[in-house]
Amino acid sequence: MKAILDVLVQTPAHAEMGSVLSYRWHTSLPNGSLVRVPLGKREVLGIVWAGTDATADMRITKPPLDPDKLRDVIGVLAGIAPLGATWQALVTFSAQYYQRSLGEVALAALPPQLREMSPIQVERRMVRLDKATQRPTGVHNKTSSPNFEGSTPSLTPEQSQVLDAMRNHAGPFLLFGATGSGKTEVYLQSVQQVLVADPLAQALVMVPEINLTPQLEERFRARFCSTFGDAAVVSLHSGMTNPQRLNSWLAAHSGAARIVLGTRMAIFASMPHLRLIVVDEEHDPSYKSGDGARYSARDLSVYRGKLENAKVLMGSATPSLESWYHSRPALEGGRYMRLHMPSRVGTNRPMPLVRRVDMNHQARGAVFSTQLLEAIKVRVLRGEQCMLFLNRRGYAPVLHCDACGWKSACTHCSAFRVFHKLDRTLRCHHCGYTDRVPRACPDCGNLDIGSQGRGTEQIEEHITELLGHLARPNGEPIRVMRIDADSTRLKGSLQTQLAAVHAGEIDVLVGTQMIAKGHDFRRVTLVAAINPDGALFSADYRAQERLFSLLLQAAGRAGRDAAMGEQSEVWIQTFQPAHPIYAAIKAYDYPAFAHMQLKEREQGGMPPFSFQALVRAEARTQEAALAFLAAASAAAQTDSVFIYSAVPMSMQRVANVERTQMLIECSNRAVLQKFLSNWQAALHRCRSLPECKGLIRWAIDVDPILV
Ligand code: ADP
Ligand code: ZN
Ligand code: ZN
Repeated sequence: MKAILDVLVQTPAHAEMGSVLSYRWHTSLPNGSLVRVPLGKREVLGIVWAGTDATADMRITKPPLDPDKLRDVIGVLAGIAPLGATWQALVTFSAQYYQRSLGEVALAALPPQLREMSPIQVERRMVRLDKATQRPTGVHNKTSSPNFEGSTPSLTPEQSQVLDAMRNHAGPFLLFGATGSGKTEVYLQSVQQVLVADPLAQALVMVPEINLTPQLEERFRARFCSTFGDAAVVSLHSGMTNPQRLNSWLAAHSGAARIVLGTRMAIFASMPHLRLIVVDEEHDPSYKSGDGARYSARDLSVYRGKLENAKVLMGSATPSLESWYHSRPALEGGRYMRLHMPSRVGTNRPMPLVRRVDMNHQARGAVFSTQLLEAIKVRVLRGEQCMLFLNRRGYAPVLHCDACGWKSACTHCSAFRVFHKLDRTLRCHHCGYTDRVPRACPDCGNLDIGSQGRGTEQIEEHITELLGHLARPNGEPIRVMRIDADSTRLKGSLQTQLAAVHAGEIDVLVGTQMIAKGHDFRRVTLVAAINPDGALFSADYRAQERLFSLLLQAAGRAGRDAAMGEQSEVWIQTFQPAHPIYAAIKAYDYPAFAHMQLKEREQGGMPPFSFQALVRAEARTQEAALAFLAAASAAAQTDSVFIYSAVPMSMQRVANVERTQMLIECSNRAVLQKFLSNWQAALHRCRSLPECKGLIRWAIDVDPILV
């Protein structure tokens, strides 16, 4: 008599079935065991799972079970321990909260290569891995406690206070620390505390984009590998190959890895002895997933911390307004403990002076104000580095013909194609559609086509011309370099470029926000935002929050080295010099900025004072997308949730697909959650209405960050 096993698999999206299916096997298996099972004509990875897929329950009518018709499990991945109960609880919660099927979330949380491997292949891999991760003998076991003396700097009083608070309170903690205040050192020592206290303990450290912060990985390796062995620190991010990812995952799952450093995906890493989660730059939008289950790794870290009884430390110089609000005093309802480190380490490194340049008083069309240009010259002549940033790549955002009004629109998207002068192309940044720059206007033949606006290529060209006649102190010519998504397309080129900046080969660095984040450029003494005003007029209510954190982060790039002498500076070129956001930046006053923004959000009933979800629909025609959302809205039964009218997205068409969205708002998170899960069935039904013909896909985005 065979046992009947319930197995979680990834069933096709929008299939009218749940993701827990029944199979037969000689023996019963513990929950969380990994198995290979047949699904239709395919063979797939599954997880033994007690209980149903609650995310899909309401739309399944399970046929009665006939044991003779059940198919057999193909094999068991016996070398891998079953996934733990808390891991299962985490994916269950994520699926429910983000309104996706359980199978999709759970299987996507496993490393891609695992989904393809047979039991034999897994076994061989485990043998190889066991050999590789043998810990150096005698380094850290229960009898000899590890010793970090000499390798750790003594803490500043602010850092000590933070670590004390973390020892004595449950958290979650929001570390509000200025750039250069020593947050990374706090992360290192809090990890150390946890690992030393318990020989099995594991820590998860998340960063927004690991490729942009190789230094962090270095610092963790330098601090911990000598004590715990090289295998104790592993990375987990999408820049790794599938075999690398699998190895890291297995090391985390087996407990051999004590520290996992990763991007948002790492929040789902299986870590049986997780005791601490660190979320660095917790405000960063890249913690929110942009497709599939649109989870927020930051928000899930708080949930996971509670589940696993692990401490959670979120850090930022410019916290997200949500986290800031949640860390208000407990008496006012705050749920996080706010810890403050206002001072930069080392007293002789003040924050750079912020200067606003009123562009209304400059020559019309000027790229650089005369004052900024002068300041750049002075710096490079002294051998210091300058960083100019502009959030727009290419040479000019649009080409146009004055004679007939032609513009370089993309034929597949509701966007203009960007002029790239270096390779003389017009490129759509949304669908990739690229061709040569026409010699004459395609519509009227006019030879005189002009460009409008500017991007990083143009800034690079312009500043190279303006500084061409100058020389460095050693007589060499001034060198300008650009770093953006175009210059770094080739693998490894970002690292090469960054190395050149660090080595001091570059005098002026031009780039997009890519250069504003994280890097520790010691010789940069001047940072300039060429044209940041766009965010002030954006329809997106989070644009100002993003601008504030970007500018403050950019400011953090300047003056990191006391030996550079002169006061470093941040320049902001603006047509709105009196705007309160710039005043707050000048004063480095995040709390004032946050207060101002939260007041506006409260008055407007926006998050964190309300809870939102978006339904996005993509279709061949705008009519079909709108019809789908209108039908979905009509099918909603609710008095407590507000459903706005469906509107085309601001980027209405991308790669010939029409995009529409509908905002849903509610003053209560639980009520919104209940509404959404009850509404799922109706959404599925609407798909097959005749007026929705041409609908390609729809998805719910809970707690959207781009509205
Ligand atoms: P943040 O992450 O807040 O920007 P870091 O942790 O990178 O700050 O610290 C900034 C600089 O100060 C780094 O060069 C770091 O090595 C140094 N630093 C941090 N903490 C200490 C300390 N307690 N003693 C001496 N130097 C420190
Ligand atoms: Zn024309
Ligand atoms: Zn396009």
